[in-house]
Amino acid sequence: MDEKELAEIRAHLLQVRNEVLVESERAYAASQSLGKDGVPDIGDMSSNSYNQEVLMNLSETQRSRVRDIDAALERMDKGVYGLCMRCEEEISARRMEVRPFSRYCIDCKTEVEKFGE
Ligand SMILES: [Zn+2]
Repeated sequence: MDEKELAEIRAHLLQVRNEVLVESERAYAASQSLGKDGVPDIGDMSSNSYNQEVLMNLSETQRSRVRDIDAALERMDKGVYGLCMRCEEEISARRMEVRPFSRYCIDCKTEVEKFGE
């Protein structure tokens, strides 16, 4: 992977990171306003708490996304971006394209999922 490619991926990652943050702030704001709404009857109350749960789960996913991206940016700084953290082989370009914050090559990913890190 050359400098130009890396710079492009970095810009893309920063953009995704930013989008996730904006999204999760919006979800947080939405969950706050749900909680403050008056709850006229039980039926509404259960759908209300269901929504809150969905929003909270969503933001947990988003938080882990941001962590993944931060870790990818850190690996870029260290010059190990695109290398498998387990076998240290280069991860296929196609895989990095689909998941730019991949930490493992496909083989290791399968192993890690089966046997743990
Ligand atoms: Zn590997």
